[in-house]
Amino acid sequence: MHADILDEAAEREQQLIEIALANRQAPQMVYTGECHYCYEPIDSGHFCSPECREDAEKLERAEQQRRVS
Ligand SMILES: [Zn+2]
Repeated sequence: MHADILDEAAEREQQLIEIALANRQAPQMVYTGECHYCYEPIDSGHFCSPECREDAEKLERAEQQRRVS
């Protein structure tokens, strides 16, 4: 029947949840209207996608390690 539409809606909802989770962090980060990683325009939060958050965190971790050693 409408399985495809339902799947698509569920997928989109899941993506929104993941984006919300990705943005649930770092209170010291300022909302700039852009993703902090790829500079895509966003309505709220700091990242346009969970992937960008992960990549940004990886970068940050790498930088912290560089500073220590
Ligand atoms: Zn992004």
